[in-house]
Amino acid sequence: MQIGFTNRVQGILPQIREFVQQELYPLESTLLQKGFGAVLPTLREKREAVKAMNLWLPHMPTDVGGLGLSLTEFAHVSEALGCSPVGHYVFNCQAPDASNMEILHKFATAEQHERFLLPLTRGEVRSCFAMTEPEHAGSNPVWMSTTAVKEGDSYIIDGHKWFTTAADGAAFSVVMAVTNPEAESRHQRASQILVPTDTPGFNHLRRIKIMGEEGEDHLSHSEIRLENCRVPQENILGEEGAGFTIAQERLGPGRIHHCMRWIGICERAFDLMCQRAATRELAPGRVLATRQTVQNWIAESRAEINAARLMILDAAEKVDNEGMYAARVEISLIKFYAAGVLQRVLDRAIQTHGALGMTDDVVLSFWYRHERGSRFYDGADEVHKHVVARRVMRDYGVNITH
Ligand SMILES: Cc1cc2nc3c(=O)[nH]c(=O)nc-3n(C[C@H](O)[C@H](O)[C@H](O)COP(=O)(O)OP(=O)(O)OC[C@H]3O[C@@H](n4cnc5c(N)ncnc54)[C@H](O)[C@@H]3O)c2cc1C
Repeated sequence: MQIGFTNRVQGILPQIREFVQQELYPLESTLLQKGFGAVLPTLREKREAVKAMNLWLPHMPTDVGGLGLSLTEFAHVSEALGCSPVGHYVFNCQAPDASNMEILHKFATAEQHERFLLPLTRGEVRSCFAMTEPEHAGSNPVWMSTTAVKEGDSYIIDGHKWFTTAADGAAFSVVMAVTNPEAESRHQRASQILVPTDTPGFNHLRRIKIMGEEGEDHLSHSEIRLENCRVPQENILGEEGAGFTIAQERLGPGRIHHCMRWIGICERAFDLMCQRAATRELAPGRVLATRQTVQNWIAESRAEINAARLMILDAAEKVDNEGMYAARVEISLIKFYAAGVLQRVLDRAIQTHGALGMTDDVVLSFWYRHERGSRFYDGADEVHKHVVARRVMRDYGVNITH
């Protein structure tokens, strides 16, 4: 477990873990019973406390007020924050803002830094990322209908998006749109454009109900219709036609962030499972942990969590040392493997709790609902398995093209 466990990480992790347990766990009951809005004022106070502890923006470089950690170092922090549903939010490294900050830092102009990145890093606004469309398979990221057509100094954007996480209440969206339909490579047809959500024609249609919940703030997912939506051409992020490349730059580190957040969830679920197994009596003096089936769940969960963590840290280290493209297979491996571990560990923890596991009296059911999506977002399991098998089979002389 020592990959990336540097002196710097060892220095800050105990502080972060203590903060999460002492300051954030007590908010869970209100969050689960009354929703995100009910805890938001308190979360804002906690954010100020995190700034005062100099732990704000752990995923970002120091020039914008971040901690300047490597991806592998941040992975450990992401695990510690993942033990609470609001950990990443309080430290300002929650999806989708975290990845938007990273691509803005890498590709934005000086003017875009001032206008879009810095308000995000200061935690003054929220943002979203609109790529997936209802009419096209999200699994094929180069197939979309949204267009951005040049007119004078502007782009006119038309299209239909959904599953735009955190769009409701966001200050701006990064919108993927086709700007170069004639480009020879299908990977060079789309661009990413920064669209303030108060731009006329950026129409928020609804928050999509998922597993019975609409979600609030960064926990919501929206359907958006862009109609004759005009933004200045200087709102393009990076080069025209570079949308797919920037999306890949975004998704690599983003998958590491998510996977280690899931390890945090797994550790919390594992702890709750073991506590329940140690205290729930089937008969006087005979606790659940005495049953072989429950012992299997404990042992299998421990093995799977440890294995997943090592795989994720290995992938993160490869990204740090050799770059994202070199680690493409490792990233696909962890994306489907860790998502599967998450589902299994949560399911076993709920089963151990019996009916209580399905209630909102414990945090397990919240994660069970919210994280079913982990097998889709940032690429469905099957797409990542395809990437891995395609690479493996190349060594056996089989060229799988699609
Ligand atoms: C919680 C959540 C948050 C999200 N947030 C965002 C966001 O902020 N912005 C955004 O743009 N999008 C977002 N998405 C959308 C997400 O990126 C897509 O759901 C994902 O890319 C899959 O696309 P799809 O849902 O259209 O499924 P489809 O592409 O229609 O695929 C359906 C199923 O087909 C199977 N399949 C697909 N390809 C293959 C293959 N090659 N081989 C075998 N089987 C295959 C898989 O089982 C897959 O689940 C979010 C999704 C969820 C669930």
